Amino acid sequence: MNKFIIAGNWKLNGNNILISNFIKKLKMFFKTHSIINTIIFIPPIVYINNIKDIIQEKNFFLGAQNVDLNLSGAFTGEISVNMIKDIGVKYVIIGHSERRILHYENNKCIAQKFKILKSKKIIPILCLGENLKEKNFNKSELICRKQIDEIITIVGKNAFQNSIIAYEPIWAIGTGQAADLKYVIKMHKFIKTYISENSNINIHDVIVQYGGSVNENNIEQFFNTNDINGVLLGNSALIYEKFTKIIKITN
Ligand code: 13P
Repeated sequence: MNKFIIAGNWKLNGNNILISNFIKKLKMFFKTHSIINTIIFIPPIVYINNIKDIIQEKNFFLGAQNVDLNLSGAFTGEISVNMIKDIGVKYVIIGHSERRILHYENNKCIAQKFKILKSKKIIPILCLGENLKEKNFNKSELICRKQIDEIITIVGKNAFQNSIIAYEPIWAIGTGQAADLKYVIKMHKFIKTYISENSNINIHDVIVQYGGSVNENNIEQFFNTNDINGVLLGNSALIYEKFTKIIKITN
């Protein structure tokens, strides 16, 4: 069985002192608890130095929140896959709804990012999911299908081998109200089935996390089903007590 994957996306939050203190405490936590799950810490990338102390811990990995399509050159403000690889990043979030909406990233651009990550052996965490209007019009599966199709078209039929998908319904992100478990399971089953039927991967090897208002009080239900392979945390990753409680419950 795959390990449960807990990823903490800090988004545009934190500062030098806050992240250093968080990591100091987390390092102690790792010393005193035997962690069997995969923990991915995804801070704003400028704080990479604050994480150095903990990066050697078993089952602890560093992630980045974005990457550019290009490897080098005149692309002001961007960071390339070679650069993040250079500093020890193993996973990169792409296709997050905040980037799709606020930075106008479309399925094609996200698929190109996916491709460049795979070519450098960095594991993409591909975020998928519908907004509330699409859900209300019963278009959730259609939206996810389109997001998946573009990846298969541009990256090829092996795309989802050794990759992670994070199903993050937009309407559940940052609301404090996670999606209903039955609904999440239905969507995860759909995503796994669709990917396995349309590309070269066995359904049991398709890894799908859930993200959207996961916290220490609702994590157990998401952990107790084989259809959910992990969680992508936002707000709950910012608070040491919440983050470690989630790790403990799922360990
Ligand atoms: P919240 O956990 O704050 O809802 O954020 C989820 C998310 O967007 C993770 O990428």
